Amino acid sequence: MLSLQHVSKYYQVGGNKNFVLNDINLEVDEGEFISIMGPSGSGKSTLLNVIGMLDEPSDGYHYFVGNAVHQLKEKQRSALYKQYIGFVFQAYHLIDELTVYENIETPLIYQDYKSSERKAMVADILDRFQIVGKKDLFPAQLSGGQQQLVGIARALIAKPKLLLADEPTGNLNSKQGEEIMTLFRKLNKEDGVTIIQVTHSEKNAEYGSRIIDLLDGKVSSSRKF
Ligand code: ADP
Ligand code: ADP
Repeated sequence: MLSLQHVSKYYQVGGNKNFVLNDINLEVDEGEFISIMGPSGSGKSTLLNVIGMLDEPSDGYHYFVGNAVHQLKEKQRSALYKQYIGFVFQAYHLIDELTVYENIETPLIYQDYKSSERKAMVADILDRFQIVGKKDLFPAQLSGGQQQLVGIARALIAKPKLLLADEPTGNLNSKQGEEIMTLFRKLNKEDGVTIIQVTHSEKNAEYGSRIIDLLDGKVSSSRKF
């Protein structure tokens, strides 16, 4: 599904290159559930953002579902993102002024789905996530766990093949965190969604099938279960 070859990302500081990612090689198959771990500042978020085409590497080759991403223009990358990727953030990133229903519907509006299709798709996911009763509430009226559920529903609404999550349980208590990880496992096993998450939690990482450890912008180990 995706391949990074000799991917580096650096920032120029004075005359020096400050490497955040340093010669990353990574192959991800469809159906995998990968956890990226490593200390703060090791490059985890940058790697996830590069994979999701939200951040451009300085160097290297990036292939995603048959496309040479490193050769694409911004507009083409954005189209690929819309078609294949859902992103979940640690701090939810919901729009405060929109209801639960409207937050989840937003990506469908950007993707030009018809109103009747949008209605059916949102109704379906509200039902599936058992949050129908919350649909007219605003994010501030929900617990952290419920807000993250809405964030995940929004990420999944357009049926992405690849779900990227940056510390999805970072702001949640351990029970809420386990519920989100159980949901991820189900999405991966039953719906075949490929998942890559960044996490500090070994326990959460073990819900997946492979752990990639980063250290100073390099892959220091890769562990498979
Ligand atoms: P990001 O760069 O994605 O914002 P950080 O690496 O700064 O993420 O850390 C995200 C959260 O995890 C922060 O709340 C931080 O306090 C916490 N954190 C950072 N390092 C560790 C660690 N080694 N173990 C547990 N929690 C950590
Ligand atoms: P992690 O998620 O593992 O905490 P990050 O990918 O967030 O790591 O960041 C890795 C390093 O990249 C950090 O040391 C950070 O200071 C640096 N970095 C990130 N963005 C920039 C930037 N725009 N300019 C300079 N350095 C940056």
